[in-house]
Amino acid sequence: MAILREAVSVRAAALRESLAMSRPIRATVSLAALRHNYWLAKRTAPRSKVYAVLKANAYGHGIERAARALERADGFATLEIDGAIALRERHPVAPILLLEGWFEPAELAAIRAADLASVVHCEEQLRMLEAERRGAPVDLWLKVNTGLNRLGFAPVALKDALERVRRSGAAKSITLMTHFARADEPEGTREAMRRFESAVEGIDLPRSLANSAAIFAHPESHADICRLGIALYGATPFADRPAKALGLRAAMTLSSKLIGVQALAPGEAVGYGSTFAAAQPMRIGIVACGYADGYPRHAPSGTPILVDGARTRTVGRVSMDMIAVDLTPVPSADVGSPVVLWGEGMPVDEVAIAAGTVGYELLCGIAPRVPFAEADAP
Ligand SMILES: *Cc1c(COP(=O)(O)O)cnc(C)c1O
Repeated sequence: MAILREAVSVRAAALRESLAMSRPIRATVSLAALRHNYWLAKRTAPRSKVYAVLKANAYGHGIERAARALERADGFATLEIDGAIALRERHPVAPILLLEGWFEPAELAAIRAADLASVVHCEEQLRMLEAERRGAPVDLWLKVNTGLNRLGFAPVALKDALERVRRSGAAKSITLMTHFARADEPEGTREAMRRFESAVEGIDLPRSLANSAAIFAHPESHADICRLGIALYGATPFADRPAKALGLRAAMTLSSKLIGVQALAPGEAVGYGSTFAAAQPMRIGIVACGYADGYPRHAPSGTPILVDGARTRTVGRVSMDMIAVDLTPVPSADVGSPVVLWGEGMPVDEVAIAAGTVGYELLCGIAPRVPFAEADAP
């Protein structure tokens, strides 16, 4: 009886799972695109190591999945310790860096046990290092604040912090790092690099400065290790250089289908608040995707979208579960026609610009109810 019940509940679970997949929205991650973007960055910074930044669940792509695609990366960087420990279990030797370091002494012990590398950015972390001397030594990244003014030691305080790290005996290795405030601008790293150089002058240790923008725009900042985030996922860090111009490929495609079609007479509106009205007779399609899937609610009428491979625009307000689109450029479209919200053929950056945000936020914001699929799995 128990076996029978179990079989029934297993089948019910499988049925539930397949039904959950029947609403047509999907986020499909291309492992080949992740690899392509990683190796493009490696060729762009040929003398540097490149760590793949996998924070925020790999910018929404799935940390385990992204790390699996990037088996041969020089290292990984993230900032959630549970994800870092899970990564360590699957990747026994790769460097895994925690970008904010630890918050509590207990985490320092976990970092030692899992052989993670960690940023040290503040006095409180220095004190925890000095207080807790037991345990294996750690690869420590000493962070200099060069003007972003979030984390890091002031340039004048760096040498003292370095001395304390050395005296603590806690360091297996020490790397010097900073993070730029304006690497996406043409002269955006100059002042920060000058401050960094003045802080680390005469210290012979490895250095890490560059994020995606600096990898592509500021070769003088490549140094020993680059930290590749947004470009790994195929979005651009620049306001004025599209991902395609950099040679990047979209790693995530958010797709769905039309689940309804309406014919609007002139003057008829669509969506909550009736913010869009048809000027002439118009067919509109209803897409199974809304803000509860992670599509930005503030995307206005006119946000670009692909229907049946053709570029068109959203019309009316984004609602929780649906978006309306103008079918004028695609008269053949009907219920079941494929829609690409962003990804292959529709850069996430274009949707982000229309919605007044950046690709980073859209990629990180895919909601838990959206099922994931993989393309180009090995
Ligand atoms: C997120 C992050 C990066 C990656 O930045 P991108 O702009 O996504 O390339 C690099 N370094 C630090 C410290 C970060 O927090």
